[in-house]
Amino acid sequence: MPNCPECTAREKKKIQAKYEADTPEEERGRDDLFKLYDEIDIPMKMDAATKHFICKRCGLYATREQVSDIRYKLNQKERTRDDKHDDYLEWWSKSKKEKQEN
Ligand SMILES: [Zn+2]
Repeated sequence: MPNCPECTAREKKKIQAKYEADTPEEERGRDDLFKLYDEIDIPMKMDAATKHFICKRCGLYATREQVSDIRYKLNQKERTRDDKHDDYLEWWSKSKKEKQEN
């Protein structure tokens, strides 16, 4: 059974906040965080009659396609945030370099 995408996203945020509170910045690693994410276990229940998945925790009711769609969109949202951050850093270091050259 797939994990509930909504609950998983919420759980990830909680895990990340706890990890950042417990672990000093210089000891943090992305892989450690991903290992914690792997432990998330919020399986949905299959309703055989309607072929829908149901999350007992948040009440999400969706087909398999909708579940992957929601998961995709939530991942996309996270990635976009990271990308924006990288763009900003790139822009920042570039403008710094240009300033030094002028
Ligand atoms: Zn849920």
